[in-house]
Amino acid sequence: MAGSRMKLELSRVVQGRSRLGVLKGLGRTGQHSLDVPGCLLYTHFGTVPHLTQDTLHTLSNLPSVTQITLSNIAEHQEVLEEFKDGFRKFAGLHDTVLYCSLHDPATSCPTGYTTNKTVSVWGSGGRIELTVAKFMALQRTVQPDWYQSMADGETWQNNTSRKRVRKSVDRTLTHLDECLLVHQKSQELERVEVFGVVEGGDILEERVRSARETAKRPVAGFCLDGLQTGSMDHVLRSQLITAVTKELPEDKPRLLQGVGRPDEVLVCVEAGVDLFESFFPFQVTERGCALCFAFDISPDPERAGRAPPAVLELDKEREMAGEPQPNGDRNGDQTQMTPFEMNLKDKRYHDDFRPLVEGCGCYCCKNHQRAYLHHLLVTNELLAGVLLMIHNTAHYHGFFGALREALAKDKLDLLKRRVLGERGGQAERKD
Ligand SMILES: [Zn+2]
Repeated sequence: MAGSRMKLELSRVVQGRSRLGVLKGLGRTGQHSLDVPGCLLYTHFGTVPHLTQDTLHTLSNLPSVTQITLSNIAEHQEVLEEFKDGFRKFAGLHDTVLYCSLHDPATSCPTGYTTNKTVSVWGSGGRIELTVAKFMALQRTVQPDWYQSMADGETWQNNTSRKRVRKSVDRTLTHLDECLLVHQKSQELERVEVFGVVEGGDILEERVRSARETAKRPVAGFCLDGLQTGSMDHVLRSQLITAVTKELPEDKPRLLQGVGRPDEVLVCVEAGVDLFESFFPFQVTERGCALCFAFDISPDPERAGRAPPAVLELDKEREMAGEPQPNGDRNGDQTQMTPFEMNLKDKRYHDDFRPLVEGCGCYCCKNHQRAYLHHLLVTNELLAGVLLMIHNTAHYHGFFGALREALAKDKLDLLKRRVLGERGGQAERKD
């Protein structure tokens, strides 16, 4: 950690909080960069679910940072130690920055298992208890470019007591100090960056204390934990994130864990968040759905014509079916369909010969129709997951591109109206 080379260069800050910029100097040699607001590439054990490396790289504009999680990796520690050359080589990854987080954002962990000295992660074989020594041994074996420090993140449920929240902030700071101590003595981790974790549940003073104290440590960036979808009321979450980001240094990135829905991403960017995890397209794929929300803010009539037309039409169908509207559901069940996707298992698609999203340039939309995807899904063909994941990944990363464009061109309000489905009747007039 001899002087962090990671550097966040902000080109614009809109309304005091939404940040546009580039995170530079990433990776061992410092040659990679990542645009913010942006997201990391979500993987299971180094692989984007359903996609081979070849298939993945048919997609353009992929993030330069790949996220792996210790919950996947901890149970393979011995094999990795024997392999010796680090996780990147083990998983056949080449030109990417590797970020190692504690938990998988797409699955929720049972609570009640942390102690003063340990946190637990869940792999396919069950629970694995990590001490700081084991956690750091894993980092030395994995050899990531960044990693999230060990943290007690069990205080996201809104009935957590103040005492328990305070304890989680204290423990997380202690874990960070202990990790940093080991880190600084480890030659293998010399060029590796540490992200400190901000906890504090839904208690403002604890959030602020956690942010201030973490910012005093030599960390390269910050993970905002315990604010995931479903953990609390959205207004409260925005207030907490705003209060936290105010305490953090301008020149270091803030990664929000466990938030992926496009409407929530927009709100959290407005509260000062830079980075997200891209588990949302995977969840959408797993329920047999395709992302179809609009995000095109281009004034170019040719491009504007490519805005996905599916959304308005879907909204009408939803209204009739009594389904929730964007921003309407607050139950936080991450397995539930959101208003940003279409359910291709639905019978109505069995003879729908349009692409998933008109104008989408992905392999799936260029070569297949909704009816074919419907057939693959109802017959449980593996190709369904592959094609959906291609489209959903392309669509989601396209949305982040549009978000950056909107910040650069002062069109965030227009983008919001697009994403939320043009409600309000004013949206089509100008811009
Ligand atoms: Zn597509």
